[in-house]
Amino acid sequence: MKRVLVTGGAGFLGSHLCESLLERGLETICVDNFFSGSKDNIRHLLSHPHFELIRQDIIHPLFVEVDQIYHLACPASPIHYQYNAIKTVKTNVMGTINMLGLAKRTKARFLLASTSEVYGNPEVHPQPETYWGHVNPIGLRSCYDEGKRLAETLAMDYHRQNKVDIKIVRIFNTYGPRMALNDGRVVSNLVIQALKREPLTIYGDGLQTRSFCYVSDLIEGFISIMDSDNIPGPLNLGNPEERTILELAEIILKLTQSSATIEYKPLPSDDPIRRCPDISSVKEKINWMPKVGLEQGLQKTIDYFQEKLNLNNS
Ligand code: NAD
Ligand code: UDP
Repeated sequence: MKRVLVTGGAGFLGSHLCESLLERGLETICVDNFFSGSKDNIRHLLSHPHFELIRQDIIHPLFVEVDQIYHLACPASPIHYQYNAIKTVKTNVMGTINMLGLAKRTKARFLLASTSEVYGNPEVHPQPETYWGHVNPIGLRSCYDEGKRLAETLAMDYHRQNKVDIKIVRIFNTYGPRMALNDGRVVSNLVIQALKREPLTIYGDGLQTRSFCYVSDLIEGFISIMDSDNIPGPLNLGNPEERTILELAEIILKLTQSSATIEYKPLPSDDPIRRCPDISSVKEKINWMPKVGLEQGLQKTIDYFQEKLNLNNS
C-alpha cells in the first residue's frame, strides 16, 4: 500500500485531499500545526485505519517514510498569511526545504501547492505557465507571493540537482465546504454575510476579476497530476470562467435569497485587478477540465456555511 504525506492536511484543501486519498485506498499521513486548519476538518477521518495525524510545524524537520508528498502547508488567505508575515516566509522556505529534503531521502514524489499569486498583478491575460509574473517584492502580499515563488525555485533546483521527482501546481482561487469562517476570503465572507443578512463587503469597485474553482475539481486535478509521469510543471489548475467580484456577490444574493445590501470598502494594496488561468497545458497533458459550475458549487458551499452557522447559534 502506498503511503502518502499531506502537509497542511487539516486545512481546507488538505482535508478534502486526505479524504480522497483514503477513498482511493492509500495510507495517508496528515501533518499540520493547526495555524489556519482545524481538527474539525479531519475529525471524521481520525478513526480511519489508514489515517494518521501528526501535529508538527514543518519549519522543523520531519522523519517519516513515504512514497508521495503533497506539500500544502501554508496559510492561504490574505488575513492569515499577513498575520505573521515572517512566519509565512519561513513556512514557504524552511518548510519547503524540509519537505524536499524528505522527498530526496525517501525518493518520494513531491507535489508543491503553488499559487496564481506567483503571477502577481498580471500584465498577461489569461495567465499561461510561461508568464513570469508581475509581483511586488516588498508589499503586504510579498511574504506569500515571493514565498511561493521561492518554493517553486527550490522544487526546480531539487529536481535539477538531486533528481527529486517534483510537480508544481499553480492553484487559482478555489472554494467550497471547510473554508474557515474567519479567513476573510471573498467566497466565505460574502456567503456568511448574505446568510446573516449583513452588508456584503466589496473591496474597491468590485470590477476586479477572479475565476473560482470548486474544491472537488481541484482535488481530482491534484491527484491526476501526482499520478502522471514526467510532468514537473508548473501547471495551472483552476476554473477559466472569469467573474467580477460584483457578479459573484449578485449570484450569492440570488442563491441565498438574501436582501443584504452592498458596502464598498477600500481595495487592499497589491490586490490583483484580474486573474484567470490559461488551462490549455493541463488539459492537453492530463485531460483535466473543471466540471462543477459556479452556481452548483456555491450552493454546496452555502449549505455548508448555513449548517455551520446554525450549529454556532444552537
Ligand atoms: P488553509 O489555510 O485552509 O490550509 C493550510 C494548512 O496548512 C492549515 O491547516 C494550516 O494549519 C497548515 N499550516 C500552515 N503553516 C504550517 C506550518 N508551518 N506547519 C504545518 N502546518 C502548517 O489553506 P488552503 O486553502 O487549504 O490552501 C492549501 C494550500 O494551497 C496552501 O499552500 C495555499 O497556498 C495553496 N493555495 C490555495 C488556494 C485556494 O484558493 N484555496 C489558492 C492558491 C494556492
Ligand atoms: N474581496 C472583497 N470582499 C471581501 C473579501 C475579498 O471584495 O469581503 C475581494 C478582494 O479584494 C479580491 C477578491 O475579492 O479582489 C478575492 O479575494 P480573496 O481574498 O478571496 O483572494 P485573492 O485576493 O487572494 O485572490
